[in-house]
Amino acid sequence: MSDDLQPHPHPLSADRLDRFARHIVLPEIGGAGQAALARAHVVLVGLGGIGAPVLQYLAGAGVGQLTLVDDDKVSASNLQRQTIYTTRDIGHGKAVSARRWLANFDDKLGVTIHDTRITSDNVSAMLDGADLVLDGTDNFATRLAVSDACVAARVPLLSAAVGRFQGQVGAFAGHLPDQPCYRCFVGDAFDAEDCDTCAEDGVLGAMVGWVGTLAAMQAIRALIAPQMGEPGWGKLHLMDGLKPGMRTLKIAKDPACGGCGS
Ligand SMILES: [Zn+2]
Repeated sequence: MSDDLQPHPHPLSADRLDRFARHIVLPEIGGAGQAALARAHVVLVGLGGIGAPVLQYLAGAGVGQLTLVDDDKVSASNLQRQTIYTTRDIGHGKAVSARRWLANFDDKLGVTIHDTRITSDNVSAMLDGADLVLDGTDNFATRLAVSDACVAARVPLLSAAVGRFQGQVGAFAGHLPDQPCYRCFVGDAFDAEDCDTCAEDGVLGAMVGWVGTLAAMQAIRALIAPQMGEPGWGKLHLMDGLKPGMRTLKIAKDPACGGCGS
């Protein structure tokens, strides 16, 4: 018997049932799906234009445990797309500001923050206990380090990115024998690449919002699968904001992949 004297609240107590009533009436979610979301732990890497709407929709969906990773500070030029921050957050850390947003939004959700830069040395510890990792960072070195750590920890990864009016959201489970990882998709050429110049590129707030909300949708699908459909491992959704339209690619596992190959 545990010596923890604090009773753990039932994930679907009366006030939680009320809060998530519009989920629970959906047959694809229901009480079982909502309880699964309450038990879930998602690690969100990158609290920028993609991570901000992801956090809002995963918190809104009642994902019970969130780990937030970002070493950046909020700047004025972030505010046209990074929807959880306000003018008063400028100069403050994104991870701390995101935790404050979350505390105001729903204090029943558990949160852990890491405001240090991800490297291949520290990434494994940041993924500890995750059911799913969602990466919305903007440089390949970080994304590949996160992918390799996910394969090693046997945790699935949703990888979301945007460049101007092109977006992509991919679902990877490279730890499974027949499924590709993110490195199978992009290869090894980008390990040293750091896209700090991305900060200079233009980006439309609604475009990263579209990518982030699709990523949040895919996260919920994966967390309660197969109730809302299969997670779609190995599928990459490409989004064109100018057309607008979406198409889907199937990524093949690379037997020689440095991340997941044999
Ligand atoms: Zn791979």
